[in-house]
Amino acid sequence: TTRIERHHYDVVVIGAGGAGLRAAIEARLAGKRTAIISKSLFGKAHTVMAEGGAAAAMGNVNSRDNWQVHFRDTMRGGKFLNNFRMAELHAKESPQRIWELETYGALFDRTKDGKISQRNFGGHEYPRLAHVGDRTGLELIRTLQQKIVSLQQEDKREHGDYEARIKVFAETTITELLLDSSGPDGPRIAGAFGYYRESGEFVLFEAPAVVLATGGVGKSYKVTSNSWEYTGDGHALALRAGATLINMEFLQFHPTGMVWPPSVKGILVTESVRGDGGVLKNSDGKRFMFDYVPDVFRKQYAETEEEADRWYSDPDNNRRPPELLPRDEVARAINSEVKAGRGTPAGGVYLDIASRLPAEEVKRRLPSMYHQFKELADVDITKQPMEVGPTCHYVMGGVEVEPDTAAAHGHVRGLFAAGEVSGGMHGSNRLGGNSLSDLLVFGRRAGGHAAAYADGLASRPKVAATDVAASVDRALAPLERPDGENPYKLQQDLQAVMGDLVGIIRRKGELEDALVRLADLRERVAKVGATGGRRYNPGWHLALDLRNMLVVSECTAKAALEREESRGGHTREDFPKMAPDWRMVNLVCSLDGDKVRLEHKPLPKMRAELIQLFDRTELAKYLTEDELADFDALSE
Ligand code: FAD
Repeated sequence: TTRIERHHYDVVVIGAGGAGLRAAIEARLAGKRTAIISKSLFGKAHTVMAEGGAAAAMGNVNSRDNWQVHFRDTMRGGKFLNNFRMAELHAKESPQRIWELETYGALFDRTKDGKISQRNFGGHEYPRLAHVGDRTGLELIRTLQQKIVSLQQEDKREHGDYEARIKVFAETTITELLLDSSGPDGPRIAGAFGYYRESGEFVLFEAPAVVLATGGVGKSYKVTSNSWEYTGDGHALALRAGATLINMEFLQFHPTGMVWPPSVKGILVTESVRGDGGVLKNSDGKRFMFDYVPDVFRKQYAETEEEADRWYSDPDNNRRPPELLPRDEVARAINSEVKAGRGTPAGGVYLDIASRLPAEEVKRRLPSMYHQFKELADVDITKQPMEVGPTCHYVMGGVEVEPDTAAAHGHVRGLFAAGEVSGGMHGSNRLGGNSLSDLLVFGRRAGGHAAAYADGLASRPKVAATDVAASVDRALAPLERPDGENPYKLQQDLQAVMGDLVGIIRRKGELEDALVRLADLRERVAKVGATGGRRYNPGWHLALDLRNMLVVSECTAKAALEREESRGGHTREDFPKMAPDWRMVNLVCSLDGDKVRLEHKPLPKMRAELIQLFDRTELAKYLTEDELADFDALSE
């Protein structure tokens, strides 16, 4: 028989990015025995790569900012498809979560009078991103880890063991969630099964509550800012456990990824470059974003370069530069310029900070970007423009959750999700900076509610031996087929389907073609093989990840074909406009056996006092006639 290491916890958190760490801290503060599991090294999650900052309406730089303005910006950014309650909780609680981080030891950049400084970012009306240079994510992870260490020191004093109540399992990949279906109320979480990447040994965590905090899905695309571990594992684990995913058609293509040299194509160029004055130019030297301001945003954006430039020093009396439109708009604009033959030699556009700020200022404000371009592209961004183009960056879609508790919808209890793996908060498009704050707000909520759920159980769920045996068999299957399909080739083929047919601009025929090809890939993935043994074997690991990438890609392609409109991170060439009727629809993915099922579900209706934060002319651009009539009735 195969050896399996067993552990017992109250709460298991899968993922050690900002959402996972914040959830684990909360569960531990509630007294629960908590495990944190991460596929990569501890500390190496996407969160650490976040550059620009965390959005929180503290009003430190412009005192007019408050949660209502942040809420409005978030809903606009998401084109009103956001779960309003999540956007509300996020806008209200972000400032507390940032201040709390300072009590854990974070030190954000300061304003002259010593407050936490805030920077401008696309779609945010006022300077709102708390930041540490362009290395904000690093500070976030550093302080959350520091808080965990301090809790472990408390536990050492109290229990004689640092790891008595919180333990980190790094380089450990979860491949299955295990359920107990014996109770009267249907299936509930009983544990999680996985393997240690280094030894290939199996490990079983028995626990009544699991928090998914596994981040994104970007590795299904070739050009992406995401790193190797972002294969949609949490999304797929949730689906297979009977939970649902929403909004999977909405993917954010960040407008500025590196396009040259080819080996680094996709690596992110932070939006802070534009927030700090950088401008986009085509090969004719034209600042083209002025040609791409859509009607819904016309009132908030400058019409001339002069006005746009004045905004940096006098934002109260000028409108914002169009380079700071939400990301979906900027990405589409760059795409159009390149397609019209006005791109750079490497197929991007120019991003120029060199002619806008003194060299010293560039190095001070954007140290990581300076080094990134110097080392990877031999470009000195204080002297030359950067070449940039869209890169797959963030998935708005994710696990459908209860806004207040982060509990997953669907047929399973004991499952929670927070951070990028959850859906709803960002609607059809996320504003920059709204992820780091999302992680803290909903990570805390998920950890707290997972702990409360574990406390409320009359009996502990049990893991079935047959389920564990099946998990072992599934994990070992690729190793028993050394001549099976090559996982690297399969990943390349999947990336080609998604990049070419389910990319930034989508068409009906291509999406149908994508689904046919994904069905074919599904058959090949079932026959994936890996050579070698279980000790550190990346080919085997990828073979196991492919199952997840595939099912998540199927959700995305299916939903993209179904949604016949263009909104945020979903652009249909054949349906180029936003359609008010579609705004009222969430597309919900679930699994029926191993088939992806898609259903329409009405979007929750915004509460009166929230919808009244908007004026009617703006709402008229998004809402249906019926919704507008309801709104008018409110004001009577
Ligand atoms: P992550 O930080 O992505 O962590 C996921 C964790 O899950 C990792 O520990 C991973 O190892 C683990 N994991 C995954 N699968 C498994 C599995 N099967 N088993 C065990 N563990 C697993 N957002 C902002 O708000 N502001 C910014 O300035 C910003 N800049 C960014 C820059 C870059 C280059 C990138 C890529 C993203 C940026 N974002 C930014 C987005 C933001 O960083 C991410 O959305 C966010 O960090 C996601 O956090 P998370 O906690 O949900 O997951």
